[in-house]
Amino acid sequence: MPGRLEGKVALITGAGSGIGLESCILFAKEGAKIVAADVNEETGRATVKKIEEQYGAKSAIFVKVDVSKEDQIKNAVEVAEKEFGRMVIGKLNIVFNNAGIMHPDDDNAITTEERVWDLTFTINVKGVWWGCKHAIPALRRAGGGSIINTASFVALRGAATPQLAYTSSKGAVLAMTRELATIHARENIRVNALCPGPLRTPLLMDFLNTEEKKQRRLVHVPMGRFGEAIEQAYSALFLASDESSYITGSEFAVDGGLTAAYVTPE
Ligand code: NAD
Repeated sequence: MPGRLEGKVALITGAGSGIGLESCILFAKEGAKIVAADVNEETGRATVKKIEEQYGAKSAIFVKVDVSKEDQIKNAVEVAEKEFGRMVIGKLNIVFNNAGIMHPDDDNAITTEERVWDLTFTINVKGVWWGCKHAIPALRRAGGGSIINTASFVALRGAATPQLAYTSSKGAVLAMTRELATIHARENIRVNALCPGPLRTPLLMDFLNTEEKKQRRLVHVPMGRFGEAIEQAYSALFLASDESSYITGSEFAVDGGLTAAYVTPE
């Protein structure tokens, strides 16, 4: 049985941890060649090592990328086309703009500092723009493809534990995704947003660092548990594959029912 991404090349940012790590491994299992991009060289290279151990040499490549730096994203796209362009049918077919931060000092409107706001927007919003800016011409060269931008459930609902810069940045990712999907729909380029619920990854667990804060968040989740990164990776796989060929501009919520619910503490 051919994999669901057989013959495709995928660039995934934030590849060293959480959703990005699980997606790199899953996409490789489904036959894609992986360009694993992360600002953290050690964890990013570890992801590639894991893939190569399971799926053979040259099934993945690491590129050091700070998504807030345009030249580094541009370079990753060039590497994807150069390294894998000859080996498979397409060139670059999938771009998963997944890297993002939640700053520990992010708070409410009164206490959040400008430096926290600016850093959050530079990575979470400008980083996605750079990713899309350089993905779109590459996907055109490949005859089309799929872009997935990681937003969050907080782009759809207010968060009870304040994180204003993060929430606002993810709202911007949704708006950007919608517009890009509309503009490029007739070029066979699909652009969707993944909206994860609260996950048991370092990003959120470092932020919700007390049991009280964890419970304050969990009370809103009908399933009563944090999500796992692999559950996001399965959803990203669907959006990346041709199985979602009529889906673009979606706000794909993978959140244990959180955005469907009106939940109050027991
Ligand atoms: P994570 O912290 O486990 O992994 C994030 C990865 O991104 C890390 O490997 C990190 O090194 C990398 N990264 C950070 N800044 C970068 C930069 N400037 N350039 C390149 N790489 C960078 O986080 P995760 O939970 O897997 O989150 C992935 C995405 O999902 C993020 O966009 C996050 O906002 C979003 N998200 C997470 C949750 C959650 O609860 N964890 C919920 C909703 C949305």
